[in-house]
Amino acid sequence: MSLWLPVVASSSNVQSHIPSDVLVVGHKTPDTDAIVSAIAVARLKSAQGIPARAVAQGEPNAETRFVLEKFGFSAPPVQSDFAGHEVILVDHSDAQLAPDDLGKAKLVGIYDHHKLGGLATDEPIEVIVKPWGSTATILYEVFNQENVKINPPLAGLLLSAVLSDTRVFRSPTTTEHDKRIGKELALIAGVSDLEAYGLQMLQAYNEDMARLDDASLVRLDFKIFKMGAQKIGIAQLEAFDAEFLTQRLPGLRQALDQALADNQLDVMVLAVTDLNRDGSTILAVGPLAARAQSALGLSADPLGTFKPGVLSRKRQLVPPLESAFKS
Ligand code: MN
Ligand code: MN
Repeated sequence: MSLWLPVVASSSNVQSHIPSDVLVVGHKTPDTDAIVSAIAVARLKSAQGIPARAVAQGEPNAETRFVLEKFGFSAPPVQSDFAGHEVILVDHSDAQLAPDDLGKAKLVGIYDHHKLGGLATDEPIEVIVKPWGSTATILYEVFNQENVKINPPLAGLLLSAVLSDTRVFRSPTTTEHDKRIGKELALIAGVSDLEAYGLQMLQAYNEDMARLDDASLVRLDFKIFKMGAQKIGIAQLEAFDAEFLTQRLPGLRQALDQALADNQLDVMVLAVTDLNRDGSTILAVGPLAARAQSALGLSADPLGTFKPGVLSRKRQLVPPLESAFKS
């Protein structure tokens, strides 16, 4: 007896097009967590039979290049055209940080650890957001829940993203989850000394910073936020010993004025974070700088005010600025 069954073609069960890969992408001016999380989610989806690939909204920085090379990965290609694609956002959900043409794409998922940024969708989507220290920490849990194995090189990448976002567990954004999962990832990756590896990785970032001119430094880790009717730019530079950066504040201030004009901002804030001194030198320029200074408790010193204990843009700069500018 033949098991052959006739294939009945009808318009209802013939796909009108072959779906392309889902694009997984982190925020603009990508950091290690943005790049690594895109790679990890693309692997997770592919392992589950959903074709997906990691892309990026920019070239990796020196720290990320160091990490990719160490664990044998290549950088996700830079992509600027997302129209018509299915898209998963990682390490952000803020429209300002997402691809400019996201409105012409179909958002199908978000994996993040930041505040929600006002994106709306037509259909239900998968959203996994937790207030943990990195997206990579959350992804470790997701891989385990979904029973997808994390191999040593991928564990090394995820570990690096945890260490990068938490500045080797020193940032106030660090949670117990990050410490516990960081140790588990280090075991899988075969990294015996977390602290030493973390410092080596951060050092790669410092060397990169030291080579940049003032304008490039301001752009290195720069995010634009819509707060009420205002557009606020916040750049942050972090180092274990930030003296080589604070020495450059006069030039950096000029670069801030330029960034303010180029991006038509109301305020441009720079935080130079010194992990050794456990604080940041913060300055604000622009027509509404006085409001930002009062929100952040800064003096009007043109070279900024050192704020002890302030290390996190997300937790310690964005919320007070939001409350000052939202009305
Ligand atoms: Mn990030
Ligand atoms: Mn992150």
